[in-house]
Amino acid sequence: MIVRRAKWQAFAAGLAAVIPFLATADDNDKPWMNTALDADQRAELVVAQMTREERQTLVFGYFGTDAPWKKYTIAPEALEGSAGYVPGIARLGIPAQQIADAGIGVATQGGAKQKRERTALPSGMATAASWDVDLAHKAGAMIGAEARDTGFNVLLAGGVNLVREPRNGRNFEYGGEDPLLAGRIVGAQIAGIQSQHVISTVKHFALNDQETDRNSVNVVIDRAQARMSDLLAFQFAMEASDPGSVMCSYNKVWGEHSCESAYLLNDVLRKDWGWKGYVMSDWGATHSTGKAANAGLDQQSGYPFDDKPYFGELMLKAVASGEVSEARLTEMARRIVRTMFAKGVIDHPAKAVPIDFAAHAEVTRQGAEQGAVLLRNEKGILPLKADLKRIAVIGGYADKGVLAGGGSSLVYPIGGNAVPGLKPTSWPGPVMYYPSSPLAAIKALAPNAQVEFASGGDRKAAAALAKKSDVALVFATQWNGEAFDSPLTLENDQDTLVSAVAKANPRTVVVLQTGGAVFMPWIDQVQGVLEAWYPGTAGGQAIANLLFGVVNPSGHLPISFPKDESQFARKSLEEKDAKGDKVANYTEGATVGYKWFDQHQVKPLFPFGFGLSYTKFEYSGLQARRLDDGRVMVKITARNVGERDGRAVPQVYVGSTASGWEAPKRLAGWQNLPLPKGASGEVELPIDARLLAVFDGAANEWRIAAGTYKILLGHSASDIVAETTVTLPEQRMPAGALAPN
Ligand code: BGC
Repeated sequence: MIVRRAKWQAFAAGLAAVIPFLATADDNDKPWMNTALDADQRAELVVAQMTREERQTLVFGYFGTDAPWKKYTIAPEALEGSAGYVPGIARLGIPAQQIADAGIGVATQGGAKQKRERTALPSGMATAASWDVDLAHKAGAMIGAEARDTGFNVLLAGGVNLVREPRNGRNFEYGGEDPLLAGRIVGAQIAGIQSQHVISTVKHFALNDQETDRNSVNVVIDRAQARMSDLLAFQFAMEASDPGSVMCSYNKVWGEHSCESAYLLNDVLRKDWGWKGYVMSDWGATHSTGKAANAGLDQQSGYPFDDKPYFGELMLKAVASGEVSEARLTEMARRIVRTMFAKGVIDHPAKAVPIDFAAHAEVTRQGAEQGAVLLRNEKGILPLKADLKRIAVIGGYADKGVLAGGGSSLVYPIGGNAVPGLKPTSWPGPVMYYPSSPLAAIKALAPNAQVEFASGGDRKAAAALAKKSDVALVFATQWNGEAFDSPLTLENDQDTLVSAVAKANPRTVVVLQTGGAVFMPWIDQVQGVLEAWYPGTAGGQAIANLLFGVVNPSGHLPISFPKDESQFARKSLEEKDAKGDKVANYTEGATVGYKWFDQHQVKPLFPFGFGLSYTKFEYSGLQARRLDDGRVMVKITARNVGERDGRAVPQVYVGSTASGWEAPKRLAGWQNLPLPKGASGEVELPIDARLLAVFDGAANEWRIAAGTYKILLGHSASDIVAETTVTLPEQRMPAGALAPN
């Protein structure tokens, strides 16, 4: 092995000292291994056996990849190329925590000597665009299985930051702009991961909604409005999944580092929501020992990303001096080990076994197909007809593969990068194209057509090819990633390319691979637009299946697409406060996304919830009644009146004129309803009472004002087809009250 840091040598020596004891230990001596006991009892028993140093061991996490710039090399036991490692306590049977990023699959750190080749799902945004919680659960279970079978037992997945800022470079990792949709989809994915006996996190807590100045920006927002927006997304996700861990974020909130915010970590997570897991810091987001530990941070992560081992040797000093009480350190260790018991990490140890990549390719392809959103389809240009003679495929490296987002969530695919060498080649790169070529898949589905490719680098050549073709498919891409925000104008002047092609042949379809919304100044010149997001390792096949109608598009936007910059809620990402400090002033409060567009009566390019199909659905029969438990039950009918089988996504919104509402309406439910042509389905949807309430900050509770509430049924936030009302009495619910679902 390469030379290890002195700290590691000291740790190894300590471990060696306890190993002889381990060898003779018997499970009968370890009553906490009794699976008949509950996780709390087991944690209590084992923590009572730990020395102070052992408790401290559990609260201090290391980076799982060598960091030469910090002269840091990983412990021999850490899984190389991973995000994190926390030593176990062998004598007590507590395994090491092997930690991987896993938003869309098991990721490998860019600095790893060897990359793990794994299945990548479509981006989080694409999964949200499916509006399909079962699909999200299945996707999570796939990630969990690949992780566990690779030796990991803690996953950094579950990104549920609200898409409040369309320029945020990490929007592709998240679940969209609505708290209910994002919370339910991301929650289902976390639940899927944890079904594999792996701990998952939900992150980044909280209000980490832009990458610009992410380590220093201070987020300011009305607290009650935060409860009704970003925090509500977390609350829904956590209720759906009970994540083992919450990752506190880089940014400051209300003047304090998130990982030092007693309000966020103790009051909201523990007191109000009653959550029992442990809070870990983002990599480099711990800034103190006593302040952070006493505010509710349980585990420092990724040392040496932080400047000091705050929860390492400094924690032992802080306990010795009384700055952190022995009881608090014990509680931190107990929360961690309780979670390991509760999620099955200890009873079902991770092992390296072969992965069923063929089955997982199906999961990711289905995810890409369900998540893609058909935004425009004029003159029936799609699905592409079997009798096309010449098809032009232009741009986006469509001959090679499909784009992925950059940063810590990056999954390395089997076969490696299809377009190596694009800049940046290192963090937050490399720019990655998964080797799933749309061109090859299109050729396979159009065996009788002449399918030709132009890179798009030479606009004239691309236009000439389009001109002599029956249809032109332009692949436009926008690479987003962690640690930077992006404008919404397509990079490398692709707008000009699209216009040039469309001018040469109006029978142009644009296939977008973007992290989130982009501007489309050429929208009226093209006949078709398919938003494929970052579609994952089977993305090429999925795109071709959608274009040819092998699969009927059924995704719906989980975000609004603004027309141009005048439609941004905030103009600048680089605000300063009166003292000259960096600030993100969310004066729009909970009026995020479609709520902002509604409130300001502004028409977006494409509204939240929008998505076309090759068939047609009609929604009717809207009825609503109040249930005894305070919820509202809505009944609707959906009918497939078109010529193909398809999947309907009827959406229910609620509206009120009661004071405190952030917008005229909120998404309150939806149904994911596959319907054969001619078929209809009747569904009942319960509405969570909190979506009819406002958060009363002073009383720290949800409050429904007595009155009449609108119940709306629609195809999107801008296409409401039916309306009814319910009358509700006044109702108050505690901050963490979970109306039964
Ligand atoms: C990201 C987290 C990630 C962590 C570990 C940080 O840069 O913000 O999302 O889990 O790195 O890789």
